[in-house]
Amino acid sequence: MDRTVYLDYAATTPVDENVLEAMMPFFSERYGNANSLYALGRDAYTAFEDARERVAALMGATHPGEVIFTSGGTESDNTALIGLATAGGRIKGHVIVSAFEHHAVLAPAEWLGKHGFTVTEVSPRTDGLIHPEDLQAAMREDTVLVSVMHGNNEIGTIQPLRALADIAHAGGALMHTDAAQTLGKIDFDVNDLGIDAASFSSHKIYGPKGFGALYLRKGTRIAPYMMGGGQESKRRSGTQNVAGAVGFARALEIMDAERATEAPLLAALRDRIVEGVLGRLELTSLNCCETKARLPHIANFIIKGVEGEAMLLHLDAKGIAVSTGSACSSGSLKPSHVLLAIGCPQEFAHGSLRVSLGRYTTEKDADYFVDELIPIVERLRSMSPLYAKIKAEHSAG
Ligand SMILES: *Cc1c(COP(=O)(O)O)cnc(C)c1O
Repeated sequence: MDRTVYLDYAATTPVDENVLEAMMPFFSERYGNANSLYALGRDAYTAFEDARERVAALMGATHPGEVIFTSGGTESDNTALIGLATAGGRIKGHVIVSAFEHHAVLAPAEWLGKHGFTVTEVSPRTDGLIHPEDLQAAMREDTVLVSVMHGNNEIGTIQPLRALADIAHAGGALMHTDAAQTLGKIDFDVNDLGIDAASFSSHKIYGPKGFGALYLRKGTRIAPYMMGGGQESKRRSGTQNVAGAVGFARALEIMDAERATEAPLLAALRDRIVEGVLGRLELTSLNCCETKARLPHIANFIIKGVEGEAMLLHLDAKGIAVSTGSACSSGSLKPSHVLLAIGCPQEFAHGSLRVSLGRYTTEKDADYFVDELIPIVERLRSMSPLYAKIKAEHSAG
């Protein structure tokens, strides 16, 4: 194998070399604890707070204190769900999440459901969108929190957050969004979106793994999820990850500077792959292709009559890294909960393939992927009784 073609940027990204360079001093000479009062500590504190100000500005936050640094998207989601629902000692109430959230939202929602709260899942429609009227219908007198992700990590659809937030607020509830796939990648402004809380992950935007942030609108009460030394204004204890914050801020600045050129390039590469795959394979479709509001870097295919895992392994043998859904559900043979939520039949959901592109993807990579995928699918289909059946039904009907 002499070639690696990485097409799984929605799972993680490599650290940008400029990000790494910005972080390096904080592993060596600038190693102080940001809580220490002597010069070395003050230096770390200054760098950390400077990173917070830059991150806050790049999401349109009004005050730097609205940004809480965390260990990543998962911690931010857990903190938001549990911390907002149980704020002020609340022990019961109604929480709404969408059915195609990341597990970092679904799992704490399930936990709330076992600990005094009632949880409703709102389903997206087949277009991959949560429709405002469906959220409206799920609202109750006692709804305290609504959480709907911004950009879906498997199918790439972008939710109408502003309209959803308005409905949540009209019903007296808070609005949280998991924005791990959107901050830096599309226009993002917490005030335009009207949200109260949002989760971010550094490693989806060429920053380090194990770092992220939670936006929390000023005045919003939250129960701390990590307790201890009282860092982050008592909202997230633990010694500050200064290198992580510096890296995340730098990564976000680069995203912001590059977005206008990067996003159309990614969309063009994505469309090149989509045209190649759909043009050369029958009984194949792009999920939610009718939806205009979508992330530029994600394409999710249903290739009927083949197992996504089998395609993945054969592509891996050619040096190509793709995914069948989210990285978290791979390893299990359960079909993706996202595809089931948008109404994809179970038997076809097994044939999903997610391609996600990024900063270092080239036209050559896109073409290599398509050229390798076609014969793999044809070979797998030629051995598949399921495909023979699907094709017979298709020809008959
Ligand atoms: C990656 C991701 C997460 C998890 O973030 P981590 O930093 O890996 O914990 C949560 N939500 C979405 C939509 C993601 O893409």
